[in-house]
Amino acid sequence: MQRKFCSVCGGALISATGPHHSQRCASCGAEHFRNSKPCAGALVIRDGRVLLARRAIEPFKDHWDIPGGFLNEGEHPDDGARREILEETGLRVRLVESLGIYMDRYGDDGADEWTLNIYYLAEPLDDAEPRAADDASELAWFAPDELPATMAFKHEHQVLADWRARLRQP
Ligand SMILES: [Zn+2]
Repeated sequence: MQRKFCSVCGGALISATGPHHSQRCASCGAEHFRNSKPCAGALVIRDGRVLLARRAIEPFKDHWDIPGGFLNEGEHPDDGARREILEETGLRVRLVESLGIYMDRYGDDGADEWTLNIYYLAEPLDDAEPRAADDASELAWFAPDELPATMAFKHEHQVLADWRARLRQP
């Protein structure tokens, strides 16, 4: 996303001329790089069903979402995915394998905040029942042919499609 003010001197930043260009401060000349925000999440699978969470917060409150979230500074995506799942579902999971990396934008207000979303396949470490907490208001297990028609974020449709494609592989 484009920022208005310089983090060095507080001066006004010149608008970037292209979608992936940096911004320069009109006062001190400092260059401000624009990066996608890293996120991590996982498809937690039990008995062939995937665990999805209904969002308790904006944007896209009440939409179905894949458990996950923004990484903290210095946090490995493996740790971030496990942490987010524990926070939102109470489940302790084992990451089975990497599913892929998906680009998207965050928010529904036209802000061009890019996200870089790292996904895993995961399985619960025990038979505990998930309990919605933190950013999730409700949790449910979905079979691959019973997935919600609409997900909170566009890229999540591709994540789920990639999971279904894997299931069809011999
Ligand atoms: Zn400056």
